[in-house]
Amino acid sequence: RKADIECRMLVLGAGPGGYTAAFRAADLGLDTVLVERYEALGGVCLNVGCIPSKALLHAAEVLQEARHAADYGIEFGKPKIDLDKLRAHKEKVVAQMNKGLAGMAKQRQVRTVTGTGRFVSPHELEVETAEGTKLLRFEQCIVAAGSQPVKLPGFPWDDPRVMDSTDALMLAEIPRQLLVVGGGIIGLEMACVYSALGSEVTVVEFMDQLMPGADKDLVRPLAELLRKRGVSVHLGCKVSRVEAKKDGLHASFEGEKAPERGRYDRVLVAVGRAPNGGRLGLDKAGVAVSERGFVPVDRQMRTKAPHIFAIGDLVGQPMLAHKATHEGKLAAEVAAGHRKEWVARVIPSVAYTDPEVAWVGVTETEAKAKGLKVGVAKFPWAASGRAVGLGRTEGFTKLIFDEATDRVIGAGIVGPRAGDLIAEAALAIEMGCEAADIGHTIHPHPTLGESVAMAAEIQEGSITDLY
Ligand code: FAD
Repeated sequence: RKADIECRMLVLGAGPGGYTAAFRAADLGLDTVLVERYEALGGVCLNVGCIPSKALLHAAEVLQEARHAADYGIEFGKPKIDLDKLRAHKEKVVAQMNKGLAGMAKQRQVRTVTGTGRFVSPHELEVETAEGTKLLRFEQCIVAAGSQPVKLPGFPWDDPRVMDSTDALMLAEIPRQLLVVGGGIIGLEMACVYSALGSEVTVVEFMDQLMPGADKDLVRPLAELLRKRGVSVHLGCKVSRVEAKKDGLHASFEGEKAPERGRYDRVLVAVGRAPNGGRLGLDKAGVAVSERGFVPVDRQMRTKAPHIFAIGDLVGQPMLAHKATHEGKLAAEVAAGHRKEWVARVIPSVAYTDPEVAWVGVTETEAKAKGLKVGVAKFPWAASGRAVGLGRTEGFTKLIFDEATDRVIGAGIVGPRAGDLIAEAALAIEMGCEAADIGHTIHPHPTLGESVAMAAEIQEGSITDLY
């Protein structure tokens, strides 16, 4: 059968991994085709993930700031929320970025094909498009088909009041009572949004800590602020049953600290994401897929078939956009003949909650479990003039050092803009910085960023008394 489209490089999936790979491949001179199920480029991250959630979190921040402004003498009165306008704002942000990506694809002469793709042989992909099935033949391929929310069984998913993260971002209404199942990053970000908008939010988490990947102390200021704002958090418990009734969703729970059986207007299930590896016909292309749907790759992002690469959420944890883009760039460069491999030591994690929680490298919990000899330096934001001025003294910056070499091997920051601040610690780890390297770098005053230098100076011993 004759192919409808032939290309040197085919990229399947236009999320942050896929579009980065396609653009890089095109920049390196490869004739590139980008296949995406949806008309809009950008994948989960841009359309139903990172970007819309942050647009809504900004609105939440404005609401909370306005409420607290009364503490320093400015009163705005009760905020009025125009949900249609807020939704339109979020959609405008996404549309603007969609347009930017389409422009970048065009500029690079990346051909885009809209439709759902399935491999039919090691060099062929069949795409179901609006105009019928098309056969695409490629020399090399980068698979970037991402992931989707885990739909916990036992929930009445056909009821629109039961939501996954995509539904929650649609902002259909502000439920009076919202149950969030899962106290990970996505669940807690949405809990912050809906709580700021006025919902009464209950969070249940199966583990004994919110955001189980982070150190316990790092999550405490967030848990404390959630509590103060009336969000009720229940750890070590799970939902045993949700029943859809006319007057709401009735949920029962199991666990020692479980809430009483209760009625909720909506339930958000945010218990993780599952890779799309099992839905692409990869066996026809000679690419192995794990039982859970992940595609195993080597340090060059190559799958079992040497001409096919895989990247992003599809290849494993952490499922984060910046990991996907980094891998996308690497795969395109390797495909173009560059002799490269994965060299990043660390990948930062950020919850854009209020306060933000960010961590990178080794955590204290991990260090303890592995028996590593570490030094920990913690700078409390209560000693930062900037944080005091912001009325946000609950934060802190923590650096974790290898005791033998004094090199930074991990960091955790909690407080407003922690996500922006963690990048310096990531750089420090990548460069093998010692405490003195950071401590002797002049940081601008008064900034929250100074807290990183202050923590380093505590480690060095040049600050011993903070007050
Ligand atoms: P995806 O973005 O999932 O893209 C895959 C693309 O492939 C999709 O567009 C899909 O339609 C397409 N596709 C799949 N199968 C086919 C097929 N058969 N044919 C054609 N096309 C197909 N990460 C962060 O780093 N920071 C954040 O703040 C953040 N916030 C998030 C908030 C939410 C609510 C969610 C859900 C996720 C968030 N993430 C965040 C995670 C981030 O969105 C993902 O890690 C990232 O999108 C993964 O990129 P990817 O390129 O691997 O795949």
